[in-house]
Amino acid sequence: MTATIIDGKAIAARLRAGVAAEVARLNAAHGLKPGLAVVLVGHNPASEVYVRSKSKAVVEAGMTPLDHKLPETTSEKDLLALISRLNADPAVSGILVQLPLPSQIDPQKVIAAIDPAKDVDGFHPVNVGRLSIGLPSMVPCTPFGCMLLAKTVHASLAGMEAVVAGRSNIVGKPVAQLLLAENATVTIAHSKTRDLAGLCRRADILVAAIGRPEFVKADWIKPGATVIDVGINRVAGEDGKNRIVGDVAHEAAEVAGAITPVPGGVGPMTIACLILNTLKAACAQNGLPEPKI
Ligand code: NAP
Repeated sequence: MTATIIDGKAIAARLRAGVAAEVARLNAAHGLKPGLAVVLVGHNPASEVYVRSKSKAVVEAGMTPLDHKLPETTSEKDLLALISRLNADPAVSGILVQLPLPSQIDPQKVIAAIDPAKDVDGFHPVNVGRLSIGLPSMVPCTPFGCMLLAKTVHASLAGMEAVVAGRSNIVGKPVAQLLLAENATVTIAHSKTRDLAGLCRRADILVAAIGRPEFVKADWIKPGATVIDVGINRVAGEDGKNRIVGDVAHEAAEVAGAITPVPGGVGPMTIACLILNTLKAACAQNGLPEPKI
């Protein structure tokens, strides 16, 4: 079997175009122009790349980028004061604080300071709690993207065996909640799980979010399963140049029914879902119905 490749790049581009069209419509009808405040503290090179691509996507969607670049030495108090100003600013629809933060700042305190209505990352405890009890909430962007990709393959996930490898707060746990909300039967695996390979072999849907290059092998995949590979791992290629690989071995595409490539799968969906969340936040803050995209 050769798997269908789930083209996250194309699906994300369509989603971004849909958001841009809705922003243009809301701007013409209501003068609404959503703004996303992205806060970057220090000079983490990977974070700088992410922040640049987020700002580009915001501009392309017709939204206002409100970037704040703060020095590495910024105190927790100063960052919390900025968050408080952004919470109060009506031009700011969404707030995203790029992680990781320098060691003098407690990320949990910063996340908890963001107004849950502007928490477009969906990391605030209120949004985490709402997601877990099935109330409408801001959904974290990468898990949201994973679900949109899985739904391009399956109209319904009800009753399917889903295995999520990884239990981080930003990917594994929220993706498991979303799968559960779609009535899949969900198992969450982690570094202490016994027989991860055997567990994965049961999965109709396997979400790999481990952070280890090509850790999940082809013979761990149930024939015909849908595989969502969240991993982004930099490895040295034979030519000495770095390349990006996922958490799932390439050969898995010979066994799976559908699989996301890395790069070009989940990665592009994360930013598309971020701008969708920003639009949703702007609509909610302005008493407008949730956009249908
Ligand atoms: P993380 O916080 O490091 O969590 C990794 C999880 O994998 C942990 O729960 C860990 O278990 C588990 N794990 C590690 N080794 C394992 C093993 N040998 N067997 C089973 N489980 C194991 O990572 P993350 O932030 O969730 O990210 C995961 C991957 O997704 C990374 O490659 C990251 O770069 C990528 N990512 C991609 C996007 C995107 O936009 N595509 C966004 C976010 C993250 P314990 O809890 O027991 O330690």
